[in-house]
Amino acid sequence: MDFNDELFAKLMADMYGPLPRQGPGSPETTRRAFELLGQMPEQPKVLDVGCGTGAQTMELAKLTPGHVIGLDVFDWALDGLAKKVEVAGLIGRVHTIQQSMDAMEFPEETFDLIWSEGALYIMGFENALKACRKLLKPGGYLAASEASWFREDPPDELREFWMVGYPDIQTVDDNLQLIADCGYEVLGHFHLPDATWWDDYYTPMLKLLPQLREKYSGVPDALAMLDENDTEMEMHKKYSAFYGYEFFVCRRSD
Ligand code: SAH
Repeated sequence: MDFNDELFAKLMADMYGPLPRQGPGSPETTRRAFELLGQMPEQPKVLDVGCGTGAQTMELAKLTPGHVIGLDVFDWALDGLAKKVEVAGLIGRVHTIQQSMDAMEFPEETFDLIWSEGALYIMGFENALKACRKLLKPGGYLAASEASWFREDPPDELREFWMVGYPDIQTVDDNLQLIADCGYEVLGHFHLPDATWWDDYYTPMLKLLPQLREKYSGVPDALAMLDENDTEMEMHKKYSAFYGYEFFVCRRSD
């Protein structure tokens, strides 16, 4: 089997589709970030960028009576969210849209709130801050979790790991400065607790890996990707004091 785009998409669907979440987070941390927001219109327009199968999108739909759009590039992610929306009877209030975050096609100043958990790194935090600012109404809010250094002195092994996966990772303080430079006021920020990496993400992934290794046993590139997940989890076990996701809650300043 060739490891072409189609196979890559299939592996992503098999690996991430069945997980409760596709990154660190929890209903509690979504709520905690939401509580840091200020006043919003009665029925805000909300965009969730890189929504995955929509765990936090559904939480947002509970927290606000507004219209919520989950945006992702992958069918398996949007199908997962669409099923949840149907079961919850929220068709008409929660929508899915298939778009790449680096080419979001909405008119400027459309949203009261843009949300994104564990996804903005895909287009780069700075690019994302700029793109989201344009889509926010004046005074609108951005709440996003972003991989950040929690300490200035990560061990070499950990630094090398991140330099391959996300060389633009910065300290929390540098991200706060970047947010201000991009035209936002920071309303609050906090670390995602270690349990939010494991409960709905790494632990279910660990359970899934043996069957994926069997399924993709003839595809070395797929096996290498599965091995990378093991390495990522090892890094987290050893070094979670040095890095993690910081949830930043901000308001467009005008
Ligand atoms: N917010 C979810 C998913 C985070 S994982 C959660 O916390 O559980 C990152 C998500 O970004 C995945 O669902 C992936 O499909 C999506 N993604 C990857 N590249 C993207 C792109 N270019 N545009 C939009 N979404 C993308």
